[in-house]
Parts: sequence; structure tokens; C-alpha cells
Amino acid sequence: MSKIQMKTPIVEMDGDEMTRIIWKMIKDTVLSPFIDLKTEYYDLGLENREKTGDQVTIDSAEATKRLGVAVKCATITPNAQRVDEYHLTKMWPSPNATIRAILDGTVFRRPIIVDGVSPYIPTWRKPITIARHAYGDIYKSVETKVPAGAKAELVVTAPDGSETRQTVFQFKGDGIAMGMHNTDASIRSFARSCFNYALDLHEDLWFGAKDTISKTYDHRFKDIFAEIYEAEYKERFEKAGIEYFYTLIDDAVARVVRSEGGFLWACKNYDGDVMSDMVATVFGSLSMMTSVLASPSGAYEYEAAHGTVTRHYYRYLKGEAAVANPVATLFAWSGALRKRGELDETPDLVDFANRMEKAALDVIADGQMTKDLYLLSTNENKQIVDTQTYLSAIAARL
Ligand code: NAP
Ligand code: MG
Repeated sequence: MSKIQMKTPIVEMDGDEMTRIIWKMIKDTVLSPFIDLKTEYYDLGLENREKTGDQVTIDSAEATKRLGVAVKCATITPNAQRVDEYHLTKMWPSPNATIRAILDGTVFRRPIIVDGVSPYIPTWRKPITIARHAYGDIYKSVETKVPAGAKAELVVTAPDGSETRQTVFQFKGDGIAMGMHNTDASIRSFARSCFNYALDLHEDLWFGAKDTISKTYDHRFKDIFAEIYEAEYKERFEKAGIEYFYTLIDDAVARVVRSEGGFLWACKNYDGDVMSDMVATVFGSLSMMTSVLASPSGAYEYEAAHGTVTRHYYRYLKGEAAVANPVATLFAWSGALRKRGELDETPDLVDFANRMEKAALDVIADGQMTKDLYLLSTNENKQIVDTQTYLSAIAARL
């Protein structure tokens, strides 16, 4: 059997702990036997980030800009305990934050739906993908306690030194106040990433905000989305047979719950934070969520939404078999390979990505699954298998 050829390499970002082990298993068992894999390899494991002063993370993001498609393994975001554990000279920043800042991208989280694991909302038959605006609002705000009798004001100083001043509140008793912001540029990038991704997915785009109450701030989001849609995307959406629609955020929540899924839901930063956990929970499991960072310039980085599964890793180091669920990481690979195939016009690669996903889901539907899914599944023939057994069953089907 001749292996599938790739034209352009994808950027491969290796990572940490259990997911680093799974990463190699996936490559050895499911990918390398069938594809002549071409990757530009960056080791984002914490040891190498320390060794390179985190330059490797920056280099991998720059490579993604250049090559257009990346696949990333989960990585440790160091905290004080990790600084001790890995003898770090610095508490290196989150690789995902570094990559996102360089690519100026939006993160899309999408559940993988599988037979036998029903969402808590039974009408949700198709995935709901959440796009979270990852800049500004309360995440980049200043806030303060305000003593009784004080006045809080919003002052904007123009470049020429002139000021506008509004009273936020005249406090009688003690209280609190906050100032937050966003930028037109960031909202525009967010909007373009969402419109592009909806076209990629061939799904409707919904956007909700609170413009009836926030007549300047939230209204700006609504206006920018509408402007960009009319000027750049309306025709393409109509041609693709998909729809963009705006509604108030509370109406959006009600419609989402009543829906059957199958659309992209763009959320402001806080709404996305809250609603992505709601959607992930309804669909069942963190180990079945993928995540894509899409930049407005058209670069994509695919990964699993979960972390490095540390608790499993410590058990693995003690000699137990790997039992973590590799599906989200596998779908990160298939997402990247499919996108590479589409961009390079290599249909064999696209076809392989589709077949690999189908095989992964068919093995589960036929009863073989890791423990996390076993606990959720209503399949009568279900049995628990370890990570390697599950991957080998996929390879056998391929
Ligand atoms: P986690 O790795 O997502 O794991 C949390 C728990 O969720 C696990 O202990 C496990 O539960 C379950 N789980 C998650 N993925 C699973 C899978 N594939 N198969 C089976 N069970 C799975 O989150 P964490 O323990 O909070 O974080 C660990 C490390 O990951 C941290 O250092 C954090 O910085 C990093 N992290 C990285 C990313 C990223 O790179 N994008 C994202 C989040 C966290 P049980 O133990 O009950 O089986
Ligand atoms: Mg959250």
C-alpha cells in the first residue's frame, strides 16, 4: 500500500504529560502507517520552553503564520507549583495566550458527538460551536472600591488634551466601580474570524449582545458585525445557503436551548466564557471537545480543549497503562490534515481525515471506549479499553 503524500508541511506543536504520550501513540498507530507525514516540529514541552526561554513558542506561532495550519498538543501553563516541579527560571506565560496574541485569532470550541452518549438537552442532535471573543471587556478592566460620599466618573482624554466627563454614580454608601474597554480593530478581527469559520463549517452564524441596554458599547459590536457582513460576506453566505443573524443575548440563550444545534454561536468575552462551559457540559465530556484558533488572515491552529490530564500521567509513570481518551487530540490532527488537504488541493488527505474521524466514532459506537465515555454511554455492548487498544482498533478499520 502506498502512503498518502502531503504537499506542504503542517506545524506540529508537541506538548506535555499524558497528552505528550498520547500524541506519539496517535502518530505511530493511526497516522504514520497511512500518511507520509510532513511536519515542521516544535517541542512546546515545558522543558524545552525553559531551555529556549520560550522562544520555541514564538517560533511555532510564526511558523503557523507562514504555513497556515498547525496542530497542537496540550501544554502545561506553569503556576508556582510547576516552577518548583520543573525547576523553572521563570513562570512562563500560557503558550495558548502567546500563540493567540501572535495570530490575533478567535478560538472556536466544538463538541464531538458520538452514538450512545446523549447530551443533557435531548434536542441537541448537531454540534454547537462557540466562538469566544478573547479580548477586552471585564478581562482587561480596572476596578475599584468606592467609599461612601465619593463620585465615580468616566473621563476620556483626547490626543489634543480635551476631556469628556460623565458621572458613573454619586455614591451615598460604600460601593464598587469598574472601567472596561474594547477596540474596533479587535471586534473587526473577531467578526471576520467568525464569518470565515461559518463559511468553512457551512453553518449559520448567530451573534448575541445587549444593545438595548448598552446603547454605545454593545451596540458597537452589533454595528461592526453588520457592516462587515454587508460589505464582505453577504454574497458568500447567500451562495453557501447559510445565514448570519443577530439577536439579543437573552433571546439567543433561549433559542440555543430550544434548537437542534448545527450552528456557530459568536459570543462576547464573558458570554463565551460562561456559555462554552454550559455547552461542553450539556454535550457530556471535556475529553470530546476540540478547539480551533482561526486568525483573520486565514491561519488555523487545531487542538483538544482539555489539558495535559496530569492525574492520569502520574499513574502512567507508576506503570499503569495509558487510559485517557485520545479522541479530541485525534480530531485536532484530522482537523489540521483536512484543512491542509483543502488548502493544498490534495483530496486524498481530506478523505483520510474524514475516514479517520468516522473510524474513531465507529469503534465507540461498536462498544470499545475509554473509561470516561464508558461512564456516560448507554451502549449495551460497551467495554472499557485503554488508549492504545482503542487507537489500534481505529487503525485496523483504516
Ligand atoms: P485537564 O488536563 O483537562 O484534566 C482535568 C480532568 O478532566 C482529568 O483529571 C480527567 O478527569 C478529565 N479529563 C480531561 N481530559 C481527559 C481525557 N482526554 N481523557 C480522560 N479524562 C480526561 O485539566 P487540569 O488537570 O486542570 O490541567 C492539567 C494541565 O493542563 C495544567 O498544567 C494546565 O495548565 C494544562 N492545561 C492546558 C491546556 C491547553 O494546553 N490548551 C488547557 C487546559 C489545561 P479524571 O482524573 O477524573 O479522569
Ligand atoms: Mg471559563
